[in-house]
Parts: sequence; structure tokens; C-alpha cells
Amino acid sequence: MNFSRVPILLKDLKGKDIRRFLFVSLHQIWVNSAFTDEAKSIVREKEMDILKINACPLCEGTQLAYVMTCTDCYATGEKFEIYQCNNCGFTFTQNTPSGKEIDKYYHAANYISHTDTKKGLMNSIYHRVRKRMLKEKVRLVMKASHRKRGKLLDIGTGTGYFANAMRKETWKVDAIEKNEEARSFAKEQFRLNVKDEKALDELAAGSYDVITLWHVLEHLEKLEHTWTRLNELLTDKGILIIAVPNYSSYDAKKYKANWAAYDVPRHIWHFTPATMQRFGIKHGFIMAAHYPMPFDAFYVSMLSEKNTGSKLSFLKGAYTGTIAWFHSLVKKEKSSSIIYIFRKKQDEK
Ligand SMILES: [Zn+2]
Repeated sequence: MNFSRVPILLKDLKGKDIRRFLFVSLHQIWVNSAFTDEAKSIVREKEMDILKINACPLCEGTQLAYVMTCTDCYATGEKFEIYQCNNCGFTFTQNTPSGKEIDKYYHAANYISHTDTKKGLMNSIYHRVRKRMLKEKVRLVMKASHRKRGKLLDIGTGTGYFANAMRKETWKVDAIEKNEEARSFAKEQFRLNVKDEKALDELAAGSYDVITLWHVLEHLEKLEHTWTRLNELLTDKGILIIAVPNYSSYDAKKYKANWAAYDVPRHIWHFTPATMQRFGIKHGFIMAAHYPMPFDAFYVSMLSEKNTGSKLSFLKGAYTGTIAWFHSLVKKEKSSSIIYIFRKKQDEK
């Protein structure tokens, strides 16, 4: 599930204020995180607090080409440009607001009122989907790591549902969450001790069997630094699990600039299986497997229809979602979102 869309799932809870609280909690995850080192390929324009990318974070190439302009249909209606590296094809949102500037892009009163008409159906579907996905995630962690129990770090844990589910399976779980309100929710609801974003630099190297980032990496400013830390924090046999939207998916190609998972400016980085593999290799990982996330196609297609101004967004989205789902069955590289499993590369003996 896309974190930035989770509030829809929470509509069944008690009233608008709680929904808004949860929304803010979930949406301030990581995005304006302040790690200590800046990747050298990224230059921040300090005065305006804009993240301007002058060189590709993946290959350091400086031939960056404009691809298209996307609108923030979620919060502000502002426009942002998508750029691509001519050398390696890595794609990103250019000039995203940074630091405190990003906060307002996570306030989606507009979006919540927008969805009022389809409350019941949308919510009950996503409630069920989330429950199912939670089970799938737990199962996947155990399958990928070949472990019934171990030590897990969940980065961008939000309100802590997944971290709690893993702990119930007797895993030892650490969780990191940037947003203070989300952290206190996780503490009250699940008694989880969630750390703030500084923990990423403070946790001990080689201490986790599994690290998970569920729809988080695309939000993180310090992309290169995060990849480096992921490798350091894992044990030698550790497993890294990353779920991100796939901009080479069927639905992305169909909706173009209206594809909801561009989600500008909240999503800075737009990955494909090819660029994810390259990032992994660059940071000492081998991509062991990748799995499609079929439900995302329905959800993203419905939101994309809404972005195009379609009046029958639910039905049209469901139709496109079904076609997209078939495409992902035939070729998982066409899936709307993909879960990647990485193992650390072992030194040759
Ligand atoms: Zn590049």
C-alpha cells in the first residue's frame, strides 16, 4: 500500500479529527528527514529549501532531461517536473520542497473531502486489503529470511501495524518513524518503542536479520546515504525488503502524467526493476527476488482516473486495474508496485 494514501483506509475510525491526525502522522514519515550527510550528487538550494538534483544519484551522470510535468492532485494542485538521467534512465522529481517546506504537501483535507462520496465501498475494500497485505508481509519476511524468528528493523513504520504484527510472531522488532504523532500512536496503540529518524545513523552495524521499507524509499531525500546504511545495519546473511511503485508498470504507461504513484512532490524517486537492481549492486546487494503487488494496480488506477477528472473513476479504475493485474501476472515487471528482496553480496573467497 502506498503510505500517502492510507488515510482512506482509516475512514471507518471515529470521525474526521482522528482521520486527520492519522493522516498527518502517516504523511510526515521521513520526507523531510535530516540526516547528517548529503549525497554528493545532490545540491540543496538552501535559501528556498528546494532539493535540486544536479547529478544522477545512481550513476552520477549530469545529462538530466525533462520528461513531463505532474500535478500534485493530493494536496496543493502545484506542478512539478519529472526528470530522467540520459545515461542510466533513473527518474526523479526535480526541485521538490525540502525541510519544513514539504509539510504542507502532506495536508490533504482537500483529498479527504474529495473521497466522501465513495466512502463505504472504498474503505471497506481497503480495510480488507490492508489486513490481507499485513499477513502477506509477515509471511514474506519469514519466507525470504528462512527464519521463524529474528531481529527486524522496520524503517518508516508509520503507526506501527506491521511492526506490531512481526512482534506478535515473536520477532525482536526495532522501528523508525520520523513523525512524532505517528510514533506516539504506535506507542499508545501497540506499546511499540519507535525511534526517530536519527536512529538510522545510531543503530549498531550488523545487527539486523531483516530490514523492511514498505513504500518509504521513494520519499527519502538521502537516498544514497540510506542505501549505505541499509548494508551496514544488516548481518552478513541479512535480507533487505523494499516495496516501491514501479514507473515502468502497465498503469504508469497508460496514465502518463496522471499516474497517481508519481505522487509529486512527496515521491522524489521513481524506480523500475532495472534501476532498483542497479542501486542494489552499487551498494553491495544482490537482488534475490521480486514480487508484484497486484492490489496496488486497482488502487492506483482508481486514483489516476480521479486525477484525469474522470466521473466514473471507481469503475474505470477497477477496469484498468484488472487489465493491469493481468499484465502483471504475465510479466511481473509490469506490476504497479513491486516488492524487492535483496541479499548482501558475499566476498568471493
Ligand atoms: Zn544516471
